[in-house]
Amino acid sequence: MSVDLLAGVDGGGSKIAVLVTDRALVPVARRTVATGVGAPTAAVDQVADAVESTLRAAGRGVDELAAVGIGVPGRVDPAAGVVTLAVNLGWHEVALGPGLERRFRVPVSVENDVKAAAAGLAARGRTSGIADLAYLGIGTGISAGVVVGGRLYRGRRGLAGEIGHVVLQEDGPLCECGLRGCLEAMASGRGIASIADEAVRAGSLVLGGGSRTTAADVYAAAGRGDAAARAIVDAAGRAVARAVHLLVMTYDLQAVFIGGGVTGAGRLFSDPVERALDVLRASSPLAREALGPGVLHVLSPDADAGAWGAVVLAGRAALPADAAAVRDDRTGVIPADAGSAEARSP
Ligand SMILES: [Zn+2]
Repeated sequence: MSVDLLAGVDGGGSKIAVLVTDRALVPVARRTVATGVGAPTAAVDQVADAVESTLRAAGRGVDELAAVGIGVPGRVDPAAGVVTLAVNLGWHEVALGPGLERRFRVPVSVENDVKAAAAGLAARGRTSGIADLAYLGIGTGISAGVVVGGRLYRGRRGLAGEIGHVVLQEDGPLCECGLRGCLEAMASGRGIASIADEAVRAGSLVLGGGSRTTAADVYAAAGRGDAAARAIVDAAGRAVARAVHLLVMTYDLQAVFIGGGVTGAGRLFSDPVERALDVLRASSPLAREALGPGVLHVLSPDADAGAWGAVVLAGRAALPADAAAVRDDRTGVIPADAGSAEARSP
């Protein structure tokens, strides 16, 4: 029995996605459990069960695992494997890594989900030749992971890329964080739904359908030509375009990859963003240079950037401690190529 499987877990509030690959990053099994990670006390078992059932369905065993990587939406201490704060999950100081290591008896790497996705995109060579990039995750909330010079950049407090709470409109909608007009309040799934609810209450928008408004409802209404819904998704598109511009200008990036549930609206999501980028380009030669062709990549919903990022984390965790790609725990800087197939080739 060879011990050569890497399990990557994207653990969110509404689903747990598991991707298992071999050491050359060839997919062996994947499965999405439609229940999010819940209470901290149950989370280790929940994630472990999801990994085990994914392996079982592919006729593989836990004893074939070399390492596990997991990305979660929250602040993480990667060296300790501890999720220090995940507001949307209701977690505080959860020792997810040590718990999973006890269960599987293999190295486990824990990272913030969008940071994992960004490092994964860089590591898989998917971005061929792009050493400076961001992954912008637009789902219930919004945040970005930034790779600079081929390395994941975490910043002093791990806040690098937390662009969801940058204020874009001072008198904009109230954000969960307490500020007004944050990117997240204007363009996240929760933000769009909440703006739409306000419009429904004011009588300017009729959505019908389900009891709870979702961003997908609003994009669908925009697709049907509803003017009020269009105005909301156009404003969201302008906010996302400004976020792309901010990320590129702040870190001098080559490309921004966008993923997350809201992008499931397809062209209805990406067209308003592209239009807003064109407006910026038309107004400024500097913006035109920064936002050149190919700067924006909207990933398809099945791209699974989070799970792939977690697999790359697992690949790094499976490396022997003296390998070239060991994480520098002091600075928290991770060589983004640490999990690439090349780096692990015998
Ligand atoms: Zn905010």
